Amino acid sequence: MNVAFNSILNSLLDVFLPAECICCANIIHDNRFICPDCLQNFQPVPETLRLFEKKKKFGDKGLVQDFFPLYIFENHTEIQKTIHAIKYNGKYLVGRSMGRMLGQALIKQLGSLTPEAIIPVPLYKYRRFERGFNQSEYIAEGVSDILHIPLQTRWIKRIRNTGTQTHLSLEERQENVRNAFVSPCPQNFEGKHILLIDDVITTGATISECAKIFHKHGATSTIAASLALAE
Ligand SMILES: [Zn+2]
Repeated sequence: MNVAFNSILNSLLDVFLPAECICCANIIHDNRFICPDCLQNFQPVPETLRLFEKKKKFGDKGLVQDFFPLYIFENHTEIQKTIHAIKYNGKYLVGRSMGRMLGQALIKQLGSLTPEAIIPVPLYKYRRFERGFNQSEYIAEGVSDILHIPLQTRWIKRIRNTGTQTHLSLEERQENVRNAFVSPCPQNFEGKHILLIDDVITTGATISECAKIFHKHGATSTIAASLALAE
């Protein structure tokens, strides 16, 4: 079945069937997507790990000024099931709901940092067509709802399919995403602080490549945030 059609069908079923937790399938009786028991199992990223990973992925004076991942990504956990549901089972509204949670966390973490535009990492156009949506866009929408910072989905685009990067090393990922993004409106970046949103940040190669474009066009800073941090 066409994936985009499947997404629409899933959304319609969600309206008419009792809500099930997307992680454990237990029935839930409010408007949430994840039951309180599963939600408790999400592991927030401790500050020491966040700082360690920031340095490892982006260096001390890199293009990415700061980095805020919400939860630790591990296989066979609730966060993996949630991200999988968002990306592959058409549960994009869960993405928006999780994005709001990320937004709430960012209110505290951003402090004096004041981004002026929220940009989701774009998918290549055929990938987006195949999936029917870009999951990072829904997450970014949720963040924008909370932070009241405009969402900009057309400031950069991915100009080639970079495929799955799951089994690639850092160097291979850097090579794979090199020059994969362009901006159709480079003048928009001049003097701007950017908040860049992705679903999962692993090596940071994709984030760094996007930040490179922002800075090439005059952006002042890039802060990266994601639902999950993977090793
Ligand atoms: Zn559950």
